[in-house]
Amino acid sequence: MADAERVFNVARIVTDTYKEGNDVVVVVSAQGDTTDDLIEKANEINPEGSKREMDMLLSAGEQISISLLAMAIEKLGFPVVSLLGWQAGFQTSSVYSAARIKRVNTERIRAALDKRRIVVVAGFQGINRYEDITTLGRGGSDTSAVAIAASMHADLCQIFTDVEGVYTADPRKIPAAFKLEEITYDEMLELATLGAQVLNNRSVEMAKKYNVELEVLSSLTRKPGTKVKEAAKMEKMLVKSVAKDSHVARVSIIGVPDEPGIAFKIFSRVAKAHINVDIILQSIGRDGTKDITFTVPDDKGKEAVTALQEYADMVGAKNLSYTTDVAKISVVGAGMETHEGVAAMMFEALADANINIQMISTSEIKVSVLIAAEDADRAVSAVHRAFFEM
Ligand code: ASP
Ligand code: MG
Repeated sequence: MADAERVFNVARIVTDTYKEGNDVVVVVSAQGDTTDDLIEKANEINPEGSKREMDMLLSAGEQISISLLAMAIEKLGFPVVSLLGWQAGFQTSSVYSAARIKRVNTERIRAALDKRRIVVVAGFQGINRYEDITTLGRGGSDTSAVAIAASMHADLCQIFTDVEGVYTADPRKIPAAFKLEEITYDEMLELATLGAQVLNNRSVEMAKKYNVELEVLSSLTRKPGTKVKEAAKMEKMLVKSVAKDSHVARVSIIGVPDEPGIAFKIFSRVAKAHINVDIILQSIGRDGTKDITFTVPDDKGKEAVTALQEYADMVGAKNLSYTTDVAKISVVGAGMETHEGVAAMMFEALADANINIQMISTSEIKVSVLIAAEDADRAVSAVHRAFFEM
C-alpha cells in the first residue's frame, strides 16, 4: 500500500469481497518502507533505545495504514472501522519486538461484522499484560492475519503480496518456473525456512496448527494465487519447488580425535553460542582422527569458529575454518515421502551439469545439497529442468 493508488487498489479488493456477501476482516502492514524508515529514525536518536520504545514507534506504521485504508473504503461508500492491535483484541507475551500472540479476543471485531462493517486491523502489533504495545517481529502481519482467521474460524485467509503465489523456482531466475495451484503447510514451511520470502514462517506454523486455509496472491494482478493447505486435500506432486539459499556458511574442524563424545563437545559449544546448525557431516575415523563439517547461517560462520577455537587448540585439530562461498540447493515436495529416486534424480542433474556436491542432507520432504556459490544458479536451472521441464 505504498501510495494512494495502491491504497485504493486494496480498498477495491476488499469491497469487492464484501459485495459478494462475505464478512471481511483486513489486516494491514505498514506502507512501503515505513517500518525501515522508522528504524532508521530511531537509530539517529539512540541506536540503543529500549525495545519497548521501539515497539511504540514501529506500531505507528500500521496505525497510519489502517486509517488511510479505512478512509479509502469510506470514500468508495462502504461501512468500515479501523482497529489497532489492542482494540482488535491481540494479547501477546511481554517480549518487546518479538512478542508471541497469546490470544485474540475477537468480540469487538465480531460486533463490527454483525453491523455489516468492514474491519481493518493493524497487523504486527498487540498489547502485553502491562498494557504496553508490543510488536511481533518483522513480517509479523502475516501472523496477525492467520491469528484472526484461526480465532474466528474464517473460511479462508488470503495473503496479498507482490508475487502471484508460490513457484516451482524463482521466476525471475528460471523462465520456465510456473505457479503452483496448491502446496502443503509442511512444504511451505520448508520453503519459508529456505528463504523464499513469500510468507512469514510463524504464520505458516500457526495456519498448520489451526488448519487455516491460506491463499498467497498478488494485490496487483488479481489472478488466483497458491493455496496452502493440508496434504490430505490435494493431489500429490513428486516435487513442488527448487530453492536456493545463499545465506549459508560451511564450518570445518579437521583432525579431531576419533573417540566418543566429540560431536557432543563440538555442538554443545556451538549451541551455547546460540548458533543454529543445519547440515552436519562427519567423516569416518582414520588413524585415530576424524573431520566434522557443518553449515550455519552465513553471518554466524565467524562466531562458530570463535566458539570452537579454544577446543580446537586443546585437542590439536589440524584446521578450523569457515567459508561463505557456498550455497544450499533444495528440492521440496511431500510426494517424495512415498516415492523412491528423488535424491538420485537430483544428483544426476547436478552430475550432468558437472557440479560438485560438498554435503547432502535429506528429510521426508526435502533433499538439500551444499555446493560452491558460483554454481548455484546453474544448479537450480539443471535441477528445475530435471523435475519440471522433461
Ligand atoms: N510492518 C512490519 C514489518 O515491516 C510488519 C509486516 O510487514 O508484516 O516488518
Ligand atoms: Mg510483510
